[in-house]
Amino acid sequence: MNKISIIVPCFNEEEVLHIFYDKITEVSRGIEADFEYIFVDDGSKDKTLEILKDYSKRDSRVRFISFSRNFGKESAMYAGLKAATGDYVAIMDADLQDPPDLLNEMYQTLLTKEYDCVATKRKTRKGEPALRSLFSVMFYKIINHMSKTEIVNGARDYRLMTKQMVDSILQVTEYNRFSKGIFSWVGFKTKWIAYDNIERAAGKTKWSFWKLLNYSLEGITAFSTAPLVFAAFIGIFFCMVSFLMILVIIAKTLIYGDPVSGWPSTICIILFVGGIQLFSLGIIGQYISKEYMEIKNRPIYIVKETEKDIRE
Ligand code: UDP
Ligand code: MG
Repeated sequence: MNKISIIVPCFNEEEVLHIFYDKITEVSRGIEADFEYIFVDDGSKDKTLEILKDYSKRDSRVRFISFSRNFGKESAMYAGLKAATGDYVAIMDADLQDPPDLLNEMYQTLLTKEYDCVATKRKTRKGEPALRSLFSVMFYKIINHMSKTEIVNGARDYRLMTKQMVDSILQVTEYNRFSKGIFSWVGFKTKWIAYDNIERAAGKTKWSFWKLLNYSLEGITAFSTAPLVFAAFIGIFFCMVSFLMILVIIAKTLIYGDPVSGWPSTICIILFVGGIQLFSLGIIGQYISKEYMEIKNRPIYIVKETEKDIRE
């Protein structure tokens, strides 16, 4: 019989874990496969870990990985994928915004061998703050223009993959992880299922606007070097403009003599060019800082405890 691993990143999810566990075990009963649930406790400060320990004592399918601190959802997903032993591996949020009911349909699709992955995306952005929607839509427009890797608008992290695809994802060991891009970058055939946005079953979202904005910049630098090219192009453009200006000024001075006027325009030009230079430097700085983090080669996450520690 096939085994399905379900990876659930959890960060302060005490309010919703019970509901999730009940739901996922119910769904599992309807699917003809063995299951393993890998909960990744991403440095929660509430009772999440205690609840997980409790479950794993009672239910041998429940495994957990507890981080030494909060490393972020990306790290949690990576840890889960690494630990998974199933023939098929799913990633699912703990808050039931990724409907477990879809799992059977996803599994049946993969069983036909026609696809390597079934992924989900949201149909609309209903229920999301307007500003957040605006920025999200802009982000997907920009990144898909700049990057060869397609990043699907509204894609969620909820997906079921074959072991083969998971192994490929694990080969991508970069520190700055942008999974939506990595999933697409490794290739394989993906079927997309769209569903309406579902509200969180309980608890609060862990993503602030700034965290999301930062995450989107992460995505752009991780999957495109277009900003660097852009910086180079405006550099070339302004070089050409300044060259023309020099010719004009020389000609003007030869014809009309040398009045000491034009101070305001000089300052404007200096400020403008200075701004462009700093802007370009900033772009380069972004890439260098990412490179710096990669070169340090720090681990993506640090484990404090797993289910093995309490089962012995
Ligand atoms: N999460 C995590 N680490 C974090 C932030 C979030 O493991 O630093 C988990 C969280 O517990 C949840 C999933 O990632 O299972 C999605 O988070 P959330 O529901 O807060 O995000 P949203 O659905 O609002 O985008
Ligand atoms: Mg959520």
